[in-house]
Amino acid sequence: MAKCAIALGSNLGDSLNTLKTSLAVLSQTPGIDLKATSSWYRTKPVGTPTPQPDYLNGCALLQVDQTPEELLTLIQAIELQFGRVRTEKWGARTLDLDLLLYEDLILEHPNLTIPHPRMNERAFVLIPLAEIAPDWIEPVSQKAIAQLARRVDATGVEKYG
Ligand code: ADP
Ligand code: MG
Repeated sequence: MAKCAIALGSNLGDSLNTLKTSLAVLSQTPGIDLKATSSWYRTKPVGTPTPQPDYLNGCALLQVDQTPEELLTLIQAIELQFGRVRTEKWGARTLDLDLLLYEDLILEHPNLTIPHPRMNERAFVLIPLAEIAPDWIEPVSQKAIAQLARRVDATGVEKYG
């Protein structure tokens, strides 16, 4: 099995319920074990073309039998299951699932880049990820997640609940 990290986000509908249910769906998938889940965070949208509601974000660690490509297909199917409609790029969404890390793999395919290309600048990813994987070395920067998390501006990322 391979160790992987995913990021979850939602800013439409009953976000907390959507995030928790999507984790349940993932953990019930054959070949996937859910190993750890971060706290949930309420975060301000960053870099969005138009104003949109705050997000709920979190991260999870999985052990998987699936390849990265199989995982991407799976998480996209789960996004659709929760009613995600792709309209504008970076628009509001009921569910966004991103594949962050997969072992120490570096991959650049047209539709799949690992590590996730924007994770190292995103406080809403690094802060929850550092709770559950502080010592994981991000293979592009060769820095530990805890170290990357300390470098980002945490303004607008607040623990939820
Ligand atoms: P974002 O997550 O950046 O807001 P989307 O969720 O709409 O954007 O994803 C856009 C595309 O990103 C997807 O069609 C997918 O093929 C691609 N993609 C590339 N690398 C990854 C990754 N590591 N995890 C998830 N999607 C990825
Ligand atoms: Mg995405």
